[in-house]
Amino acid sequence: MITRELARTVLAAERRKRSFALCYHGVGETSIRIDPRFLRVSPRRLRGQIELLRDAGFAFVTLSELVESGPAHGRPPLPGLVALTFDDGWADNYDALLPMLRDYGIPATIYVTTGLMGRPNPWLAPDSGVRMMTPEEVVACARDGVEIGAHTLTHPDLSLVGPEGCRREVMGSRTVLRELTDTPVVSFAYPYFHLGPEAVDAVREAGFASAVTGIGYGDWSPLTLERTAISGKDRLASFTLKLLGRYDPLLDSAPVRVARGATRTLRRRGWELLERHG
Ligand SMILES: [Zn+2]
Repeated sequence: MITRELARTVLAAERRKRSFALCYHGVGETSIRIDPRFLRVSPRRLRGQIELLRDAGFAFVTLSELVESGPAHGRPPLPGLVALTFDDGWADNYDALLPMLRDYGIPATIYVTTGLMGRPNPWLAPDSGVRMMTPEEVVACARDGVEIGAHTLTHPDLSLVGPEGCRREVMGSRTVLRELTDTPVVSFAYPYFHLGPEAVDAVREAGFASAVTGIGYGDWSPLTLERTAISGKDRLASFTLKLLGRYDPLLDSAPVRVARGATRTLRRRGWELLERHG
């Protein structure tokens, strides 16, 4: 059984060696009925995760700041940084996340799918009533210091839409967000974490300085940067093991959640089960 103090101690040691980019989606209470992929993290759990990282001594930065600390110059990031990122642009990023970021005085990066702005959230049960951020809410986040990144126009799997489709989706979303927020919009997130050479080319051509995916799909290169995906199911043990790179959802059975000797292949299979969405 892992205690909070043990987690803090282990992460404090890790902080001297490395940095993290974390991938979230929604922030709100969740249930298997409305949110079968557990894409929402409850505010209480998110606060616990932020406080654990803070107490372990991590400094919170935007994804672009993380990239600028090393990957942009061909090196891993400086150790001791953590970038919180949120994909899609869920309305609760404005309602629940933004006040939390203000409370802690920390930044975050939100990747917005521009064609979904103001529409019902397509990943939750229709009767959940949850929608995506409106353009005005995206602007309010940007004005409050949140980094806004692009996440395509329509959230396709970019490995399936060909070079023209990639260009349209990648460049199109950047143009919309630059005009809307009056910010540079220099970071991009691949939907479903999926990418291929055509998607990476489109990101490069569109002028993005960084692009992010998930564990098993990338590395520390600026245009294929890995993030650790956190779900609404993660408790203290799985959250900590994920950060240590020793978590395997296939082995995540209570009460012993220690994943030993998980191979990269196994971990990748686990991620695909857990993170069909991205
Ligand atoms: Zn997404």
